[in-house]
Amino acid sequence: MRKLPPVFAGLGESAVLDWMTGVAPPPAAVTGEVAAQLERMIAALRADAAAPGATFTATGRPTVVSGHRDYTRQERIWSRKFDFEVGVGRFGAITDEARAAFPALGAAVEWDTADDTHRTCWEGLSAEERGREIMRTSSGPGISRHHWGTDLDLWNTSAVHYADGGSLANEYSWLTRHAAAFGFIQPFTARSAAVAHAYTEERWHWSYRPVAEPMLEWVDAHRSTVDTRLRTLWGNSARYAFLRAHWAEFVFHVER
Ligand SMILES: [Zn+2]
Repeated sequence: MRKLPPVFAGLGESAVLDWMTGVAPPPAAVTGEVAAQLERMIAALRADAAAPGATFTATGRPTVVSGHRDYTRQERIWSRKFDFEVGVGRFGAITDEARAAFPALGAAVEWDTADDTHRTCWEGLSAEERGREIMRTSSGPGISRHHWGTDLDLWNTSAVHYADGGSLANEYSWLTRHAAAFGFIQPFTARSAAVAHAYTEERWHWSYRPVAEPMLEWVDAHRSTVDTRLRTLWGNSARYAFLRAHWAEFVFHVER
């Protein structure tokens, strides 16, 4: 492992584990550095958007729709989906495996907790299969990069806006060319998604590499310690069967 950046200095193993798993907030130095770099990047984007002929639409929108998320918040998101709570409505993407097992799902793209047919199919899934469905478009408590304070969802989290011709396609193109100069990378791409147990492409999710990469290296160097901490947080609950089996794949199947 390379030398850790100053934000890790003075943090013991337990403190980094708390930070990484969302049990404790990120160090203030991380939050401050990420916010400052994001502000510089968005100022540059706005400057380019003001150029003649530019067609950017995001300049008036709130920039960050989701930033830091703690363990409790992510656990709530997970459990509401796992329990198919009516208030959740549509979520996730139905996997090919689920569709093959339950033809009654028809052509539906997303799970819908208000749909009785979907509910019957969901109840037919094992705990591990439910975890697989949730992880298609979501993350789990303890392993979300949103715990780190380095990762942000920009503008809108619907893929259609970022596709070619979409309302944020020009912003996305700008980010692919300029974000790295401010330290930001897109961790979940079509390429990183092309293996089993990886997040699907997320063009709205950007990560501050100067801290996120050392965090990944730290997790890699402390895999069994992290695994023990996660198992403690999750307990023996069946609802975390899929995460117990596959958490490390989701953490490491990313762009770096
Ligand atoms: Zn995100």
